[in-house]
Order: sequence, then C-alpha cells, then structure tokens
Amino acid sequence: MSQPYAPEPWNRRNLTGFAVATALGAALLGASYLGVSSEVQLKDQVPLLDLGIAGLLVATAGGVGWLAAGIKAVRVRKAAAVTLVRSRFGSVEVAGPAGPGEGFVAAARLTRYHRLGCSLVAGKDVSAATLAEHSTAGRRPCGVCAA
Ligand SMILES: [Zn+2]
Repeated sequence: MSQPYAPEPWNRRNLTGFAVATALGAALLGASYLGVSSEVQLKDQVPLLDLGIAGLLVATAGGVGWLAAGIKAVRVRKAAAVTLVRSRFGSVEVAGPAGPGEGFVAAARLTRYHRLGCSLVAGKDVSAATLAEHSTAGRRPCGVCAA
C-alpha cells in the first residue's frame, strides 16, 4: 500500500516560515543586545529593548505557527487513519455511550483504553476498569472506539 502522507507533518513552507521567523527574531534580539549594551542612558536603551521584544515576538510567532501546522497535519492524518481502520474493521463501530455496567478495557502497557469490542484490543490480555481508573493510570480514550 502506498503511503499517502510524508513521514513528517510539516512541509517545506512550514519549515521556511519557522526558520525565517527564528532567524529574524534572533537577529532582532542580537541587535537589541548589542545596542543596549553600548548605551548608558535608560531613555536611549528603551527603543532598543523594544526591538528585542519585537524579536522575541517574531520568533514566538514562528514557533506557534510551526506547532499549529504540525497539529493540523496530525489531525488530518488521524482522521484519515480512523476512517481507514473503520472501513477495514467495521466491528469497531459502537453505537452510543457506555452503559453504567459497561467498562472500558486496557492492558498494562497500553496508553489508551478501549470498549470491550474494539478490534484494536482483540486477542490482547486486557482487563476492565472504570474511566476514573483509566484516567488515574494516565490513559486516554481510543480514537477509534471510545472517542
Ligand atoms: Zn479502541
């Protein structure tokens, strides 16, 4: 089967934006540092400090944009993966929320908890627990059956 997505969630445009913002922010911060260190009077330092703050903001915006692009790409891939799994394992579809006596299952090394009929835990040695117990164990809901 061909791989529809590149292994990393960022494209060249994301990388370029992040690199330019980081380099510009570092340059502004460096210019601010050099300028402030050569001024004695506070009134002469303030505009240069503002330049440094602008540099920090530019670099931060680049980092936030980088992370946002990655999160968006991962969400798109997750949705595609869930659709693919559901198309191949139709039995993972569970109608409605769990009833009061119906627990979620997980194995000791799993980071997610599942409904009992989930294909992702079929054949695994799982044990049932309450949502609170799974949450205490640091587990999150399965994106296929318990989301
Ligand atoms: Zn599941």
